[in-house]
Amino acid sequence: MRRRTMALDHPYRRLPIPSNAPFELKPSSGRGWGAFATRRIERGALILSEEPLFTIRKPHSEITNEVLVRAFQKLPVNRKPLFFLLRDNASEAFRSMEHAFAENSFNMASEDHTGQQLDYLHGLFLLHSRFNHSCSPNSKIPITGGEITHLRSFATRDIVPGEEIAFSYAADFGCRTREERHRELRFVCNCDACQPRTPFQKLSDMRRRLARGLQYLQIGVDLDGQRQDAPDRPLITDPQLKRAAETFRIPLSSRFIYGLLMMSLLEQEGLLDDFLAERLGRNVSVPFAMFETESNVQVAKLAMAQHDWLGRLCVAFQLYGRADAADQAVATLFRALSG
Ligand SMILES: [Zn+2]
Repeated sequence: MRRRTMALDHPYRRLPIPSNAPFELKPSSGRGWGAFATRRIERGALILSEEPLFTIRKPHSEITNEVLVRAFQKLPVNRKPLFFLLRDNASEAFRSMEHAFAENSFNMASEDHTGQQLDYLHGLFLLHSRFNHSCSPNSKIPITGGEITHLRSFATRDIVPGEEIAFSYAADFGCRTREERHRELRFVCNCDACQPRTPFQKLSDMRRRLARGLQYLQIGVDLDGQRQDAPDRPLITDPQLKRAAETFRIPLSSRFIYGLLMMSLLEQEGLLDDFLAERLGRNVSVPFAMFETESNVQVAKLAMAQHDWLGRLCVAFQLYGRADAADQAVATLFRALSG
């Protein structure tokens, strides 16, 4: 009874949710509070467009209590009390403004095409910070590349009323195993991909590790933008293949197959939402458009005529190991794109 009363009196009840929003905030078993769908949300639909309470144009290391107090003091008088509704893990008041900001802020800065941040801009978001994490999420805040003024989340699959809405707190978790993800999260996630020793979790780890390797073969660097040099646990075990990836000498037929295999793996993993499909689809459409050798062109066309990614992959495997007249031009192009 006391727990129930606490929930009814909770400060999060006073957070201003837009009247047309398809979710409510309430306690989430074992995870503090979370956002839950109040009606069916279709794949691709906007869940929430939120503007920050305030923003700070500084790197994290320079965001001190003094900086935050100055930003807070500039808030309109009716917005100031909102900051004090925030709770650490939905229970205790934060020890400092720094701590509150660190736990409730999102990066809003622009990035270049490789994902490197171009400047610093962090915003404090009262509502999106209430959404829990999942490594098999049903929603996403897509990366736009440019500086943003609002944080916008979308459903990545159909969400039923009562279902918790969660997104992944890290963009590269599709390429990280359970153990790697938990090390970064600093909490134990219990999503489908994290339930220990289940068939799905074991498959999930294999698929995500393979996806990371495929990415390496396609762009010649690891998730951190660097060449991998870990002899104890190499991502690519064949040194010749690794070298070919790093010098962009992966043949066109292999690039086409790697692109299709990546799409197929992520689809099986439940991660191939429309945003990711558009971005990674280029790793299939670009090689497809570059084939010059007529026999390769014919197989590639037949592959692309199949109705799903696995079907396209199965046909494309016929190309494995085949050279193409465009291979040299492809190496030059990818080297130029990487630089
Ligand atoms: Zn998880």
